[in-house]
Amino acid sequence: MNVLIIEDNQDIAASIYDYLEALGYTVDAAGDGVTGLHLALTNDYDVVILDLGLPGIDGTDLCRRLRQDAHRLVPVIMLTARDSLENKLDGFKSGADDYLIKPFALKELAARVKVLSERISRTPVSQLQIGDLLLNEETHEVSRAGKQINLNPTLFRLLTFLMKNPHRVIKREELEHTVWRDNPPDSDALRTHLSNLRQAVDKPFDQPLIHTIRSFGYKLTDKNAED
Ligand code: CA
Repeated sequence: MNVLIIEDNQDIAASIYDYLEALGYTVDAAGDGVTGLHLALTNDYDVVILDLGLPGIDGTDLCRRLRQDAHRLVPVIMLTARDSLENKLDGFKSGADDYLIKPFALKELAARVKVLSERISRTPVSQLQIGDLLLNEETHEVSRAGKQINLNPTLFRLLTFLMKNPHRVIKREELEHTVWRDNPPDSDALRTHLSNLRQAVDKPFDQPLIHTIRSFGYKLTDKNAED
């Protein structure tokens, strides 16, 4: 199991490091938010242990960016000395899965790391999720808010690509390449497919997920599209 510790207090970081390493885990550590975010985005960790108060990028901000930019949902445990309800809620809103108030027993932290890593390993890796939209690459099942959505192979391929690249503007050419490789048909074909995809994925629901970014391309997001 691979664990990343992002904690600027060297004593705390070292004690967590030693404790988890003794349990047989592979552990990386970062002492600031910038290094931590970089490591979290470029490696596959089973759990990230994240301090709330960090130099560079603070814990809530880092967690939010990790949720936005990472292609995989890595579980995050937030550590904080500040035990007010407000901070706790901030932590969860930014996407943390669990929360531990300092000082804590290492044994308890290790137990929670184990629970979180097991929870995530039970989630099939082939499952993609954006908001209430789910897509399973293996079974080809797509659903939104529990309602099954039927897509033809082209629309399925388009949606898979969009869901693997959420929250960023994807150029039309990039989408065309995804569907037709190097032989795109006329320029209206993609527009037609996207319109059909929207009919299936967005039309029956309140919040649209597929957004047109004028003269650039498209963006799939459950957040505010202008962000
Ligand atoms: Ca700190």
